[in-house]
Amino acid sequence: MTIPNITLNDGHTIPQLGFGVFKVDPAETERIVSEALAAGYRHIDTAAVYGNEEGVGRAITASGISRDDLFVTTKLWNADQGTDSARAALATSLDKLGLDHVDLYLIHWPRPDLDRYVASWQTLEQLREEKLTRSIGVSNFHRPHLERLLAETDTVPAVNQIELHPAFAQRELRAFGEGKGIRTEAWGPLGQGKYDLFSEEPIRRAAEAHGVTPAQVVIRWHLQSGIIVFPKSSTPERIAQNIDVFGFELSAEEVAAIDGLDRGQRVGANPDTATF
Ligand code: NAD
Repeated sequence: MTIPNITLNDGHTIPQLGFGVFKVDPAETERIVSEALAAGYRHIDTAAVYGNEEGVGRAITASGISRDDLFVTTKLWNADQGTDSARAALATSLDKLGLDHVDLYLIHWPRPDLDRYVASWQTLEQLREEKLTRSIGVSNFHRPHLERLLAETDTVPAVNQIELHPAFAQRELRAFGEGKGIRTEAWGPLGQGKYDLFSEEPIRRAAEAHGVTPAQVVIRWHLQSGIIVFPKSSTPERIAQNIDVFGFELSAEEVAAIDGLDRGQRVGANPDTATF
């Protein structure tokens, strides 16, 4: 199985399908990430606030996979936004991961009320110069937040990682970012199991037609829409199932029918008002 690579605006490549570890119990992370690596995933999405970077790092070391064959993302937590604190936060994350660099470092949320994301971004630019991260990007940024970075700093984010699933497809934000060279990453790609996505008619119909599961159809919809995606699961069968999505293709009609499920339905926090 070959996972497609996407080339980012800084020339680095990212595997389009990866493995997310939000809410993966720190005590179980090494085992679960080891399962994912054995299943063929090479792109892991974690964050300082998930509390499981050490387990991710242990699984990477135990795997024996060459560092150059892995893509590791982590994120700057909101409380650490700022010039010196962002620098210290990446040092701590690298220490926990046992790595000398990550592939992608993201500002986790804009937290416009703090008004520190521009200063944080300028620090991320320096950290990239120092090769502590290959690429830099943002998460949960709305258009005005992106516009401010574009106006006030020198680097266009490589990605914007946003909540994105069929009922919340974020078309306008995606189009704006992609027009500026910012690739879209989906979080909560399966809706975090918070609504009955898998019973939606276009998804059930496509699953039956291709002899796959509804989850596989949704992952395929992300991939065929050009989105970078890293579903999370803690069970070996689903970990294997979620990467086994390269043996079928949705038709243009099936993609369009799933596109029709968009109803602006968030399952997570609104970045404009989040205060955690
Ligand atoms: P997700 O949409 O990937 O949903 C995960 C849940 O879907 C699992 O707990 C499981 O219940 C279910 N599931 C997974 N595979 C399945 C299958 N094959 N069949 C049936 N059910 C299945 O939600 P997520 O974990 O929140 O999002 C993915 C990743 O995105 C996270 O792990 C994390 O890395 C990232 N994330 C980032 C942010 C952010 O603010 N940047 C927020 C949330 C998540």
